[in-house]
Amino acid sequence: MPGIYRKKRRQKGPSKNEEKVERARQAEAIARPANSLASRFPTLRALTVTLSFTGAQGQTLGEETRRYGPQDPCDFSVPCPGLCGVGSFDLAAKIEQIAAAGETDSESNGVCQEILQTGGSCACALKCRVQASYLEK
Ligand SMILES: [Zn+2]
Repeated sequence: MPGIYRKKRRQKGPSKNEEKVERARQAEAIARPANSLASRFPTLRALTVTLSFTGAQGQTLGEETRRYGPQDPCDFSVPCPGLCGVGSFDLAAKIEQIAAAGETDSESNGVCQEILQTGGSCACALKCRVQASYLEK
């Protein structure tokens, strides 16, 4: 009887194939979350970013080492530890440049341009070393 046939075939939820597609999609999302290093820079294996900050009077304000693996989000914004309290250094453009050129070791400098309430600029200086390793081609 057609009615019984339909009842037997009725499935709850998504079909096997839909489940398979969904599992693959989730695995892909876990392997390559949006904005991860692997999705944004497919050739990069890992990044080590060493930051050191110097105040306007030349005093050391802090040092920090950040390591990025393929799963890590591309958060390349570094808050300024200087007097301004609001500035930040964005390393994204520098890292894009390094990845595009295939550089493995690169140093750069930046100075916070935020204007202080007391007048004058923050002038906190960032020295940044980026070490990159790449996937085998
Ligand atoms: Zn600053």
